[in-house]
Amino acid sequence: WKTIDVENRSKDELYEMEMTFNEMIDYLKENYEKQEMFVSNASHELKTPIQIVKGYAQLLKRRGVDRPELLHESIEAIDSEADRMKKLVEQMLSLAKNKETVSMENVNLSSLARDTAATFKGAYGREVNVFDAVGTRNIYANRDQLEQVIYILIDNAIKYSNGKVDVYITELNNEVIVEVEDYGNGISEEEQARIFDRFYRVDKARSRDTGGTGLGLAIAKGITEMHQGDLTVRSEVGEGSTFTLKLPVIVED
Ligand code: ADP
Repeated sequence: WKTIDVENRSKDELYEMEMTFNEMIDYLKENYEKQEMFVSNASHELKTPIQIVKGYAQLLKRRGVDRPELLHESIEAIDSEADRMKKLVEQMLSLAKNKETVSMENVNLSSLARDTAATFKGAYGREVNVFDAVGTRNIYANRDQLEQVIYILIDNAIKYSNGKVDVYITELNNEVIVEVEDYGNGISEEEQARIFDRFYRVDKARSRDTGGTGLGLAIAKGITEMHQGDLTVRSEVGEGSTFTLKLPVIVED
């Protein structure tokens, strides 16, 4: 039965198996490297606030008694660095949670965007306008997670611009579309490819000053993909940016 045909086929099959195996190894290696990178970035990001807290604590220990004027500055710094660590840990947990199963319900993106936008008025006193097309349908989603995505996009639009922020909600081809538009710094094409990566920030110092961690867009992307949606950016340096979130309306037959 050892015909040439069979021999060839088995060779092909072996080759195919080897390829599948190599692909599997590559995939595992890539995932392992990503994990390693995440842990290394996360520890680096946590180390900075820990060092600052430690520094002020030592300063207070040495000088706190004879220089009481240091007290106020130190307490302020310790308090804000503790907030930063809290945010980092919460965001890291949020990234991990994306993979878990979460409860789903019917969500109206127009009212969710309105409610989320309203929370910014009090906090920053900035104008966030919501324009929604009449009759956009509900989507089947986890409300808290989608609120988090919209919050991240509006928060960024406020942080990286000085003027107003516009939010548009429309529906097209069985998808509800949320666009968050600002008229701020903008993002270069090269950076647009990287801003969704974990811990990536275009301007580390500016992002840190505004309480940024570089995890927001990675979380937003993760949640969007979990909902079979799509999150993209269009931007022009010096003109502004528009983040577009598309989520499918699940239509029952
Ligand atoms: P961060 O916590 O630093 O805001 P994100 O993951 O939310 O982290 O965003 C990553 C980076 O993308 C930001 O540090 C910023 O440089 C850039 N970015 C995000 N949104 C905008 C925007 N609307 N305009 C300009 N740059 C933005």
